[in-house]
Amino acid sequence: MYIFSINDDIPTTKNACCIICADSILLTLKSIGTIPLYYISRKMKIICIGQSYADHVREMNSSTPSEPIFFFKPDTCLLRKNQPFFYPNFSNEIHYELEVVLKICRLGRNISERFANRYYNEVGLGIDFTARDLQRDCKAKGLPWEIAKAFDGSAPISEFKGKAEFPDLGNLDFWLEKNGEVVQRGNTGDMTFNFDQLIAHISKYTTLKIGDLIYTGTPAGVGPVAIGDRLKGYLGGELMLDFFVR
Ligand code: MG
Repeated sequence: MYIFSINDDIPTTKNACCIICADSILLTLKSIGTIPLYYISRKMKIICIGQSYADHVREMNSSTPSEPIFFFKPDTCLLRKNQPFFYPNFSNEIHYELEVVLKICRLGRNISERFANRYYNEVGLGIDFTARDLQRDCKAKGLPWEIAKAFDGSAPISEFKGKAEFPDLGNLDFWLEKNGEVVQRGNTGDMTFNFDQLIAHISKYTTLKIGDLIYTGTPAGVGPVAIGDRLKGYLGGELMLDFFVR
């Protein structure tokens, strides 16, 4: 990204002439308000929602949160084009968590729930692989659990479809097959907080940028994978993910 600033002391949108992204999108002062420029880079981020389905909360012996919970994964987690997932040697208990994924299409901060649907235009399917053994250890010690969530390859992602292709995003079925057997099934209508509420909440704390991904949480049925397993993920009846664990 190229930033042209009149005053370079602390670049903000108030003193910037213009910002030109590598993909040739011109962001005007009007569109980004007074967000400091140092918040804006080409790097996308992955935001993952925790405990967003009540049935999954129950299976984890947890309690439904009063507001959305989120954490981050770095971009090195992404696995695209059905590349195999390589079982990491630091865990003996990798679990799949199938999740609907939103792709952010506008820069925004403090987005109101009312306008949140303007900030994503594509929907896909992903897996939030979790090293459950490491996560359990970290939780027991009161430590952050990034090592259980943010390791390389822990976020397989499908191709994306325009949200207009889905008749009702608030009633969207998705399911996961492991070796031909359905092991996890969910419907977005069962989320504690809907997509718009998630975007409004996240953007209170962190600026959402074009290309950011939101993994919107997993329903009940999470479970282990083993080397040799074949995972297939379906969204609205369509096969979106199909890859092997190696
Ligand atoms: Mg998850």
